[in-house]
Amino acid sequence: MLIPHDTRIALETVVDLVNTAPESDTGDGLAELPALYAFAERHDISGVGTLGEKDLRAVQDVRDRFADIFAAPDARTAADLVNGLVAAAGTTPQLTNHDGYDWHVHYFAPDASVADHLAADCGMALAFIVVAGEQDRLRRCEAPDCRDAFVDLSRNRSRRYCSSRTCGNRLHVAAYRARRREAAR
Ligand SMILES: [Zn+2]
Ligand SMILES: [Zn+2]
Repeated sequence: MLIPHDTRIALETVVDLVNTAPESDTGDGLAELPALYAFAERHDISGVGTLGEKDLRAVQDVRDRFADIFAAPDARTAADLVNGLVAAAGTTPQLTNHDGYDWHVHYFAPDASVADHLAADCGMALAFIVVAGEQDRLRRCEAPDCRDAFVDLSRNRSRRYCSSRTCGNRLHVAAYRARRREAAR
């Protein structure tokens, strides 16, 4: 599956946003305004200007919608959710090659709020995944105490954990120790 650079970046933004949810083990990573500023900076969301409580609540709402799309049982459900999200945000497709990137399309409107910016551009990245028939790559980590969202971009769609270094490795070690204990009996 060929995923353009900007789509890949937008998907990383979606994953990061979904994983700030209050039910993740680190608590709500987007509870206060400074966290929203940090998030916008981390993901190069330019021109956000001064952010307020309204922006915070709107982004939290977009976060819930992205989580719903991750949980969508089929493409039809995902498509309806993406359509609703993108329509509400309003879009102005615009070709750009800023900052040395190849030509790609920005979808957010010029004066979009940070929430609408995220809904438009990340919503379209999720739309691209649905169009490619790859909606089942939007996954949750299978580690029982993690459940973080991730996008499985592996060739054979075999990824089960948010990170092989943390969750995958942790479970491997646990399984290995259990086998050793079993063998030592
Ligand atoms: Zn761009
Ligand atoms: Zn995990």
